[in-house]
Amino acid sequence: RNGFTKESFILSVDVGTTSIRCHVYDKEAEIRGSCSTMVVPLYPEVGHVEMDPEAIWEGFITVVKGAVQDAGVHMRQIEALGISTQRATFTTWDRRTGIPFHNFISWQDQRAADLVKSWNRSCTMTAIQGVMKVLYFFTRQKRLLSASRLVFSPQHVTFRLVWALTHYKQVRQAATKGNCCFGTIDTWLLFKLTKGKVHATDYSNASSTGIFDAYQMCWSGFLSSMVSIPLSIFPKVENTSYDFGYTDPSIFGLPIPIMSVIADQQAAMFGECCFDVGDVKITMGTGTFVDINTGNTPHTSSAGLYPLVGWKIGSEVVYLAEGNAADTGTAIKWAQELELFSDVQETSDMAYSVSDSDGVCFVPSFNGLQAPLNDPKACASLMGLKQSTTKSHLIRAILESVAFRNKQLYDTTLRETHIPITKIRVDGGVSTNNFVMQLTADLFGRKVSRPHHYEMSCLGAAFVAGLGVGYWSSREELKKLQRADDAFLPKGVPNGSASSPSREYVPVIQSWEKALRRSMNWYKP
Ligand code: ADP
Repeated sequence: RNGFTKESFILSVDVGTTSIRCHVYDKEAEIRGSCSTMVVPLYPEVGHVEMDPEAIWEGFITVVKGAVQDAGVHMRQIEALGISTQRATFTTWDRRTGIPFHNFISWQDQRAADLVKSWNRSCTMTAIQGVMKVLYFFTRQKRLLSASRLVFSPQHVTFRLVWALTHYKQVRQAATKGNCCFGTIDTWLLFKLTKGKVHATDYSNASSTGIFDAYQMCWSGFLSSMVSIPLSIFPKVENTSYDFGYTDPSIFGLPIPIMSVIADQQAAMFGECCFDVGDVKITMGTGTFVDINTGNTPHTSSAGLYPLVGWKIGSEVVYLAEGNAADTGTAIKWAQELELFSDVQETSDMAYSVSDSDGVCFVPSFNGLQAPLNDPKACASLMGLKQSTTKSHLIRAILESVAFRNKQLYDTTLRETHIPITKIRVDGGVSTNNFVMQLTADLFGRKVSRPHHYEMSCLGAAFVAGLGVGYWSSREELKKLQRADDAFLPKGVPNGSASSPSREYVPVIQSWEKALRRSMNWYKP
């Protein structure tokens, strides 16, 4: 398609963990209008984190209408819609009525943690891993190596879905009769936007559930049968850039083509233009996600890096290896609720106002510790408190812990993938914190770049949708749209290219690692 004028736009929505945001982008990828609304998490029981599917749907409609109004444009000027969503948060609904059987069960939810632990320790798992190792020895097929290292995580959909099938009779009955639809947030929105015509997802979202075989590029029959999940409930998996259909005209007054559906971290990777092997992006929002582009092969890891489909566009499949920390923005928010500060913008200066954390270590583990420690039962803690400890020391300890987790994940990525890293780009709300950024660059011993536009998931979904309709012509054009970054260079390292982690921090990190170990395997009710 061609003939786009300055008066046409791409609409993109990002459904995050804390908010739903919509931006209207023009040809220069400038935001012409925006609207956002909060996501309200529900905590029905200790360790349970849910969201109301109707509230997500209503929030989506509100932000789309609000952004278009804010831009002062008409819906008919929207060329395409792209949707980026938080991953592995799912619900199930009745295929015939479209009514959900239960709330979304969030990726942060820990209800299946015990189930995951017992499966990971079970004889079945040991036997499977053993058989896979032997088969890999004879065949050298990488997917068998991957299966031999299979470890479940509560963040994956698998055991939360097993929990739903076990605890909700209606879900079980509908699944048996073929009337149950499973969907992550993207799938739910597609279903609602098309008035039930489309039950689909894309490869990036599917691969983030943990039930998808990234080697065979299909839902894993092996895993599903192992944990008794009927394959009939799963949506069709389409390309990331795909004509998913038009929004029903009754919703926005006229049909809008939905041209991309992409998982948020993969979308951020695309928005950062991390198109090449070795490109790394670090998103620091509610949690931290470190992703490396591993090219056209999935990456297997024993330390908890997870192989994902970055995107599938045409016949090209790009894979990522990902490590994450669940508590980044959550730690900042917690500190705010305790009134350690009033405005989040103050936190960087507060951390710089003291020369160290006064020996205080913060373990950011409200939702367990992920790679490389992988302990869902680790507790959050503050250790080394003294009478001399001030609010600034506490803030410094919290911000340091964010950078320390970045360093742990970065080291794991280097160690596990052996891929030379080409560039490191960061985004997400916490990346606006200069203290965190500088310490991260110091600890990595290399340059870390922060784009001016930090809502990368939204931009990435817009890029994929825009490329799909020919609004933008190529990835080269997208790269040219990037504005100058803020570059953080490691202290004392000219050009920021050599690798020399900051020495003064070695004993601090050692104490912090001790605090991590002490917080592990903590009893949780
Ligand atoms: P998500 O996409 O996961 O909803 P965001 O990328 O919007 O998250 O980031 C939101 C988080 O960023 C919030 O927890 C907020 O407290 C934190 N944040 C925003 N600005 C700063 C800052 N300058 N310093 C530290 N944290 C910040």
